[in-house]
Amino acid sequence: MSIQSGAEYIDSLRGRDLAVWILGEKISETVDHPVIRPSINAVAETYDYAIENPDLAIVDNALAAGRVNRFLHVAMSKNDVVAQNKMQRELGRRTGTCFQRCVGMDAINSLFSVTFDCDVKYQTVYHKRFTSFLEKMQVENYVVGGAMTDPKGDRHLGPSQQADPDLFLRVVKRVNEGVYVRGAKMHQTGCLNSHFLLVMPTMRLIAEDSPYAFSAAIPVDAEGIKYIYGRQSGDLRACEPGVADKGNVRFSGQEAMIIFDDVFVPTESIFLDGEYEFSAPLVSRFTCYHRRSYICKAGVGDVLIGASAQIAEYNGVEKSSHIKDKVVEMVHMNETIAGTALAASYESQPTSAGNFIPNELLANICKHNVTRYPYEIARLAQDLAGGLLVTMPSSLDFENDEIRPFLEKYLVGDARFSVEDRRRILRLIENLTMGRNAVGYLTESMHGAGSPQAQRVVLQRLMGIEDKKSQARKLAGIEDR
Ligand code: SF4
Ligand code: FE
Repeated sequence: MSIQSGAEYIDSLRGRDLAVWILGEKISETVDHPVIRPSINAVAETYDYAIENPDLAIVDNALAAGRVNRFLHVAMSKNDVVAQNKMQRELGRRTGTCFQRCVGMDAINSLFSVTFDCDVKYQTVYHKRFTSFLEKMQVENYVVGGAMTDPKGDRHLGPSQQADPDLFLRVVKRVNEGVYVRGAKMHQTGCLNSHFLLVMPTMRLIAEDSPYAFSAAIPVDAEGIKYIYGRQSGDLRACEPGVADKGNVRFSGQEAMIIFDDVFVPTESIFLDGEYEFSAPLVSRFTCYHRRSYICKAGVGDVLIGASAQIAEYNGVEKSSHIKDKVVEMVHMNETIAGTALAASYESQPTSAGNFIPNELLANICKHNVTRYPYEIARLAQDLAGGLLVTMPSSLDFENDEIRPFLEKYLVGDARFSVEDRRRILRLIENLTMGRNAVGYLTESMHGAGSPQAQRVVLQRLMGIEDKKSQARKLAGIEDR
């Protein structure tokens, strides 16, 4: 039966036979692990949000019968692409973290057109296979994760030139019913919280790299997959009693390393197998969708701006003009991120397969803003928070009867507000700027969907400088030779 609520989603993750390592320990059940659970809660929120706001999060679908979650929907119009962004910002605001479902959504939207184009060129049957897979996901309302980033080894060398050929995911054996793949995928957002993974190549490939030109759907619990959980700063606060020091009481993101130790993939789940020249379009279409999916950071930014304004009020300084100006500055940067994402989506164009893809230049501008502004917003948040952000005693100290009266006496701000509330907002700012959710808000903003230089390469290709020069010459009265 298809998953509807967040609670049903959480239940669907129970009892899988996974091989997961976290903090040096092998576990098979992720759902009740205190460090992992907040990331599951964040995905569960996407289901509950769809119940609350079906107008935005549920779509009448062109593929499966009935209405499907937007995270599993192929965008068939500009409005569809824009609606993705509106949903992403709202979910960023509601969770204050990465809710993990956009990688799969963006992989679905890119594979839809790339499989179509490959079939046109080679008379393959990838598009039909892919849409059949997608219909099943839509009917079950599953979480689909996207897995692109290979370990890459020596960055100067391509996949087939590496000393160790496994540094990029590749086909290592063929049998009648399918293939076996070996390799790893790094920094995989929400992989353990997904039901299926869409593996994709990570870069432009040449003919020698054909075994690496591989894309397929693989169940998260397929035999031979191992997961090694990524450490986040402050993650063990989730194991402490009480909530005040957690900062974000319910939610976190998730990244893990996935090892594919000779994993079998049946033929009907394969969407690219050796057609190396389709690797570049798959990567560039995926990044085009994903770089403007980072409007999620504007949603998280809303939370950090709110926390900053709130701590200013608790500190009794919210009316100072320089405080108000700093909040305005934060809003300017945050809305610039959102504005460029929305512009990219509003400028979407149809692909040959009929679905819509955002404007590539603007999508890259959005992501480039995201590599900078969250850091600057975080700097201002820490400015407004004050030094107590990093010197505040722990919850355990507040529970100690001997010192609690002193803490309550000396950590007061504006006396209309409790020390406990002041403490919680400071912990939230800590969480977002240097704790668990700084993973998503800062470093992932830098490197997720490609590091800053990757966007600059695209900007250089698309900036149309010759046209700009020509216009300048024209206005200066210089005749074109
Ligand atoms: Fe979605 Fe943002 Fe998380 Fe990427 S970082 S999966 S875009 S919420
Ligand atoms: Fe990401």
